Amino acid sequence: MTVVVARAPAKVNVHLAVGPLRPDGFHELRTVFLAVSLLDTVTARPGDGLALTVTGEGAGAARGADRVPTDRRNLVWRAAELLATSAGVSADATIEIAKSIPAAAGLAGGSADAAAALVALDALWGTRAGREDLVALAARLGSDVPFSLLGGVALGTGRGEQLTPVLSRTRWHWVLGIAGEGLSTPAVYGELDRLRAAGRVPDGQELAAAEPVVAALRSGPPEALAAALGNDLQAPALALRPELARALRAADEAGAAAALVSGSGPTVAALAQDEQDAVRITAELAGAGVFRTVRAVYGPVPGARLVG
Ligand code: ATP
Repeated sequence: MTVVVARAPAKVNVHLAVGPLRPDGFHELRTVFLAVSLLDTVTARPGDGLALTVTGEGAGAARGADRVPTDRRNLVWRAAELLATSAGVSADATIEIAKSIPAAAGLAGGSADAAAALVALDALWGTRAGREDLVALAARLGSDVPFSLLGGVALGTGRGEQLTPVLSRTRWHWVLGIAGEGLSTPAVYGELDRLRAAGRVPDGQELAAAEPVVAALRSGPPEALAAALGNDLQAPALALRPELARALRAADEAGAAAALVSGSGPTVAALAQDEQDAVRITAELAGAGVFRTVRAVYGPVPGARLVG
């Protein structure tokens, strides 16, 4: 095989309840992931050793957390090494990541790339890892990587890596407002711990139930989902990035059914009534001047898979 192409989706956490800091440094999560139609593409070709290039979002002149590394720090590099080691093959591939998912945006872009790389390299190298093996490797790479493989809608527990698929017959339309500069996920969790220690937000001992959001996803209408959305990381993301309040207000003023910060932010996810409503909200938010990019998306969509 000379060239293999795989794609994987971004995610929005439609429910994200964060427990207290665990002794292992992670937080217990109860989250509902929704895979949405904003996709990164990973292309793998035979090579001598590993070589990585990145185009699109986070490439070239990007700075800070937005900058996507092209060495060992890239999750794709680590995915390649992990798959090669576990399959007993040498890690030889030339890999190109074409990024549409902004980096450090709370959309799990790095996780999507890692999931796509596992699928692409499994095909390129003929390692024939089963889906279950790939999921186990994914969990070692990061908490969100198993979901990037699975896609659709899923309840995530543990660090978010223990997944139970959730049924959703509806196609949900969203508008993603992407801010100018990324936010570091560990910094947002750190801020949550600080806000909790200061008694400024609930302590997280009781994780909010996911059932209302799961029930709303199953049968709609958008108003029910709008009422059930929630994200414990929104308060710390707002504390670190106060201008996000304006971004959330802009989504509200544009008539979104609801808006919330996606994951650790700073992306704002605005829920639309339907596709037409999403087009209208996209135009309004693009004109509001608070976002770098505004994208209409829908979900659920499948997880990482080979293209063509
Ligand atoms: P999450 O929502 O999973 O917590 P995120 O979507 O906010 O994460 P990512 O886009 O995954 O964030 O990037 C977080 C950091 O990971 C970036 O600052 C970057 O340095 C690093 N990184 C490593 N590999 C990648 C990749 N392939 N794409 C993007 N970032 C990557």
